[in-house]
Parts: sequence; structure tokens; C-alpha cells
Amino acid sequence: MPLALGLLDKGYEVTVVTNRTPEEIRRGKVMSSQCMFDASLQIERDLGLNQWEAECPPVEGIGLTVPHPELPGQKAFAWSARLDRVAQSVDQRLKMPEWMEQVEARGGKLLIQDGGIAELELLAVSHDLVLLAAGKGEVVKHFERDAARSPFDKPQRALALTYVTGMKKTPDHSRVSFNLIPGVGEYFVFPALTTSGPCDIMVFEGVPGGPLDCWRDVRTPQEHLAQSKKILDTFAPWEADRCRQIELTDANGILAGSFAPTVRKPVMTLPSGRLVFGLGDAVITNDPITGQGSNNATKACKVYLDAIVARGDRPFTGEWMRDTFERFWDYAQWVVTWTNTLLTPPPGHILNLLGAAGQIPPLAKAIANGFDNPPDFFPWWMEAQACERFIESKMAVAAIE
Ligand SMILES: Cc1cc2nc3c(=O)[nH]c(=O)nc-3n(C[C@H](O)[C@H](O)[C@H](O)COP(=O)(O)OP(=O)(O)OC[C@H]3O[C@@H](n4cnc5c(N)ncnc54)[C@H](O)[C@@H]3O)c2cc1C
Repeated sequence: MPLALGLLDKGYEVTVVTNRTPEEIRRGKVMSSQCMFDASLQIERDLGLNQWEAECPPVEGIGLTVPHPELPGQKAFAWSARLDRVAQSVDQRLKMPEWMEQVEARGGKLLIQDGGIAELELLAVSHDLVLLAAGKGEVVKHFERDAARSPFDKPQRALALTYVTGMKKTPDHSRVSFNLIPGVGEYFVFPALTTSGPCDIMVFEGVPGGPLDCWRDVRTPQEHLAQSKKILDTFAPWEADRCRQIELTDANGILAGSFAPTVRKPVMTLPSGRLVFGLGDAVITNDPITGQGSNNATKACKVYLDAIVARGDRPFTGEWMRDTFERFWDYAQWVVTWTNTLLTPPPGHILNLLGAAGQIPPLAKAIANGFDNPPDFFPWWMEAQACERFIESKMAVAAIE
């Protein structure tokens, strides 16, 4: 949507084809926790797509808690740090319908239909460029999986979302409160704006086959809420304490499912030989553990928008598509690598780093602010020696602060 609206602003003729009406999305199930950090929010601001900025509760920081492995109910360590600039999460059930309506208001065409190969062929005849941003829709499987960039071929987490009201706030500042429960999975929660107003979004990430992989037999929204609370009572009682009064925002404020993180090759060749260019989750699907998917898709929109404009009247060839994707991959590869490291048991230097951040506030701040620009995590996230040097450098900063 940001790419479509950005192109309309620049005078291009744009057709958006999508398989649900604005009203169906508004009344449908939640799709994401869609927490976006400042650089991505800035892209939306620049395109005039920040309609909810004043109303949406800010996410002011990132916190991390790891439960004690031997003392049930106790924490091994916990810290939080402020973001330099706030993050925000606006329910996609608010954003997408409004932006779809804006496509028509800004002079574009909105077609509600399910796009398959036949529809893509027709669009490719009548348009200079066809982009496919169908998320995890079946049609994206026509983009070839890039095995060299996709270390996993199975889901790494059982995922669930629970949108609630009535949660007790965190002290000092609002935050994404991460809880990493070794061998079991992760729970994180943060304030957001949904269709009925402010809320908190609970995100559960369960290691397959473990105790958080527990959503298959949940039948009703109330059972989903009860399951969410039960998990916290068992694994993160400090989070359960915040949840004594919670209620679902609405019966559709829940989701459960799983998918394999996958990178695909960005160019699809149709039977006619015409080409389709992939964007967003269609070509890079990350596990939500680091909250990067919407950020990535928005940053890709900006790279693609600039490349389309710079192309002028020249044709959008396969080579241009691959070059444009690689320009985005220069950034996205770090997001994918960093996110994937969090899906396997952490090496010793990462455990040391995350623990040290509790004693060294500038280190905690660097980790928190990395969410806005994951390339900043390198090389120290990956290499034990670089990590040690990075911790020492932040210790020196702490000593003079
Ligand atoms: C549980 C969970 C939590 C998440 N939390 C975060 C987070 O906190 N922060 C973050 O940045 N990201 C998060 N994400 C990821 C984020 O939601 C996605 O990366 C982002 O929505 C991708 O945008 P997209 O436009 O590429 O695809 P989508 O948002 O999936 O949009 C694709 C659209 O295409 C439509 N479509 C599909 N197939 C067809 C077809 N054949 N014809 C026509 N239309 C079609 C769909 O209906 C949909 O409207 C999360 C994801 C999940 C699952």
C-alpha cells in the first residue's frame, strides 16, 4: 500500500488488486502485531500515511527478562532501555482499509479479486510493471525458494496473538516486554492501537512440540484468552500479574498459526514469459520474533519506489528487478540473519551479552535501538570476540556517564 500510494503521489497510474474489501478486513481477524520502529514510521510519515500517530500509544523502549532456570517464578535477569525514538503498532485492520480507500481517493484503481497466474498475465499485458505483495498467499509459491538464503524449511515457532484491554502498564516507560524462556519459546507484549482504541498485543512464540505449542485444541476466543493467561501463570508470573483484569479487544483479536521463514527469488516468469516482481513477505518472510516483517516491507517499498522513479521511461527488465531487490537485500540480509539466530539456542556470547546489558545501560540501549536498524547488530551479534570488544566499549561509556 505505501508503494501504491507513493507512486500515485508521483503521478503514476496504479491498479491495486487485492482479495478482500476494506470492510472485510475491518471486520476480520487480526493479522499481525505490526510493531514498527522509527525509520519505518518515517517512511509512512513522508508519504502522508501517519494518520494514527497522535492516537496510537507509543512504545518507548525494549525490555528483556529471562526466567531463572532453577528457581521457578524468579528472574535470572531483567533490564529495559529506552528507544531513541518511539515505535508504534497500528492494527492492520485500521491501516489497510483506510489506505485502500486512499488509493481510489488519490486517483488509483482498486480491484477486489483473487489474483492467480491468469490475472497476473492480464495485468502484465496492460501495465509496465507488475509487483506481487501477496504476503503468505498461495500465489507467492510461484516465486522460487532461495535455498542459499533460507536456512529453515519448517516453521520454527508456533505463533499466537492475543489483543487485550485492561493490562497493567510497565513502570517508568512503555515497552516491548520480551521474555525469553530457554527451550520453551518467547512471550512479548506491547501497547498498540486497535479498531476499538488502545490495547496491548500479546505475542506467543512456542518451540515446536513444546509447552507453548498449545493452540491446536483451542476452540473459542475465550479459550484462547484462558490459554494465554495459563502460559503466563506457568512461565512468566511477573507478566501474569499484569494480566489479572484483561479482556479480549474483540472476538477477532486472536490468531494462531505457523510458517517457515523463507527467502524467495524476487522475479517470477509467467507462462507468457512476462515478469512479476516480488515485494514484502512474498519474497522475505521472517519469523515475527524480532518484529521486523512490516518494517522490512515498508523499507522495501521505499527502495522500490526510488528505483521505479529513477528508471524513468526505460523498461522494467528482469535485470532491473534483480538489481533493485539486491539493493534492498544489502539491508534485509542483516535482518534475516539476526532474526534467524534467535530461533536456535543462543551461543554463550549472546547469553553473556544479554545478561551484561542488565549491568551496562549503554549496552542495553544499543540492543534496544538495533531493532530500528538491525545492520547495527553486526559484527558483534555473530562473533564472540567482536561481542566481547563491544561489551567492553559500552562498559567504558557507562564508566564516564
Ligand atoms: C503473529 C505475527 C506477528 C507479527 N508481528 C510483527 C511486528 O510486530 N512487527 C513487524 O514489523 N512485523 C510483524 N509481523 C510481520 C508482518 O505482519 C508482515 O511482515 C507484513 O504484514 C507483510 O506485509 P505484506 O504487505 O508483504 O503482506 P501482508 O500484510 O500479508 O499482505 C498481503 C495481502 O495480499 C492479499 N492476498 C494474498 N493472496 C492474494 C491473492 N492471490 N490475490 C489478491 N490478494 C491476495 C492478502 O489478503 C493481504 O491483504 C508479524 C507477523 C505475524 C504472523
